[in-house]
Amino acid sequence: MTEPMVAAEALTRVFRTGDVEVPALRGASFTIPAGELVAIKGRSGSGKTTLLNLIGGLDTPDSGTVRVNGRDVGALSENDLLALRRDHIGYIFQSHGLIPVLSAAENVEVPLRLVRTPPAERDERVRVLLSLVGLADHAAQRPYELSGGQRQRVAIARALANRPRLLLADEPTGQLDSETAAALMPLLHAVVSSEGVTVVVATHDGALLSEADRVLNLQDGKITEAPIPTP
Ligand code: ADP
Ligand code: MG
Repeated sequence: MTEPMVAAEALTRVFRTGDVEVPALRGASFTIPAGELVAIKGRSGSGKTTLLNLIGGLDTPDSGTVRVNGRDVGALSENDLLALRRDHIGYIFQSHGLIPVLSAAENVEVPLRLVRTPPAERDERVRVLLSLVGLADHAAQRPYELSGGQRQRVAIARALANRPRLLLADEPTGQLDSETAAALMPLLHAVVSSEGVTVVVATHDGALLSEADRVLNLQDGKITEAPIPTP
């Protein structure tokens, strides 16, 4: 049997601020097979970001386990965790987080430089990725010279640079108009098929949910399978 890309088992995470306890997750369990485009829905404050942070190894659960590609994220050493994040996981956040003084191509190149990819290979990878996200003709432009949707696509290309197995997207359309947002899911499907990556999108945008392979609902700190809404 092939290992699922993500396997979460009874995840809990409680935040304490002063003497107030906020249980963000109360025993979330689910699996995501490799090659799926899965949406996690839930209203604001339901714990979506918390869950993505646990999957991505940016935070650790109070109890329960999350495995990525068979590896228990919470049990990894600091070095192994860094390597997992660098080599296997790509992130897209609500805000694109591009470096303003760098061109689109240079932004995509940053993660490749970090792992010392040789220049020729780097150039080729940047070219392939910018063309995958439909920005082959915008390589030299800086973020401020691009639209919001184009910036988001540069961020996607950058997240894919080092060929992650898993792409985590946290409310990726939060700052996009609805027309631009509608173009995101077809692009993510293209990314799944051409890069073989598994995609997890946290969103409360109904338009995105209808195009997911599967929808998981996060409510009361738990995950349940939800029907895919019709557009
Ligand atoms: P979502 O992404 O679905 O909006 P979050 O995961 O950001 O939800 O938050 C879930 C709950 O946990 C919210 O009540 C939020 O206020 C709380 N929370 C999240 N992160 C922290 C933190 N670092 N410290 C305190 N409370 C937090
Ligand atoms: Mg959030």
